Amino acid sequence: MEPSSIPIGRLAPSPTGAQHLGNARSYLLAWASIRQRNGGIIFRIEDIDSPRVKPWAVRQAMDDLAWLGLNWDEGPDVGGPSGPYIQTQRCALYTNAISRLRALNQVYPCVCTRRDIEDAASAPHESIDGPVYPGTCSMWNEGDPLPEIGSFCWRFRVRDSHQSFTDDVSGAQSMNPARSLGDFPVTRKSGEAAYQLAVVVDDIAMGVTDVLRGNDLLPSTFRQLELYRAMKHPPPRFAHVPLVRGADGRRLAKRHGDTRLSYFREQGCKPESIVGWSAWSAGIIDRWELLSPSELLSVFDLQKVRLADTLVDQDTYLRLMTM
Ligand code: GLU
Repeated sequence: MEPSSIPIGRLAPSPTGAQHLGNARSYLLAWASIRQRNGGIIFRIEDIDSPRVKPWAVRQAMDDLAWLGLNWDEGPDVGGPSGPYIQTQRCALYTNAISRLRALNQVYPCVCTRRDIEDAASAPHESIDGPVYPGTCSMWNEGDPLPEIGSFCWRFRVRDSHQSFTDDVSGAQSMNPARSLGDFPVTRKSGEAAYQLAVVVDDIAMGVTDVLRGNDLLPSTFRQLELYRAMKHPPPRFAHVPLVRGADGRRLAKRHGDTRLSYFREQGCKPESIVGWSAWSAGIIDRWELLSPSELLSVFDLQKVRLADTLVDQDTYLRLMTM
């Protein structure tokens, strides 16, 4: 796709379960930040995490987001020039990217198991999300013999130097990816693309200029920036927004009650109460009131998004239902 002069954003649910209140808030903010600038929205289904994908969750995610009042210009239901919009139908693009990364000696086959990495003699230190890969297989160079098919993943070599970027919500970010994250897998042992690779290949191919998502993906952004550099493509702008958590501060889960959007929808909740709650809890408006997505556009200001996570409790659910 040609570089675009208008902003292009995406809504990219993973159909590994139902979409919940926290997902709704991030999608509303992502949608508003693009639509306010008259940009385009792409809907993409991120279903490469095959063991955890629930077939019903694809349709449900589209129904939930449409119910909230969000719309998109391209997606599995409406088609468009950068399709297909379902990652499992885009595997040829990911295979092609691996070939390019191999030619650059940016990836190596890694036979290590999770256990091997944890047990490595060099006592791997913990990164934000798991142990840092100790580099056991990294001596391989393109042209060396390959391990048996199915016994290895492709792992990406990250730079051992300080990297930084400015996040549109979370501000200045910096990290040495080799020290803090380590080389990371870009495929599974089955050969399927891993999330990090698929998301970058797709965002490049679809001309995405702006990525807004939950701040649990901030560390992944440093991995993705490494991939953009290797693929010689300028990265999009990134905005990482705070998460919605249960009253105990933990990630939203079943123990916190039913926060599925489909549940609110079935129980007769007004979508405007979720839009209003999202805008208010994110710091965009001062009072929680009913708000339509088009009203959200008239008040939206990314600079106002507050940095603290939001806790939701039974009172929040009750008010959402009865507004
Ligand atoms: N599919 C991912 C999720 O639902 C989002 C990935 C991204 O925004 O980069 O968590």
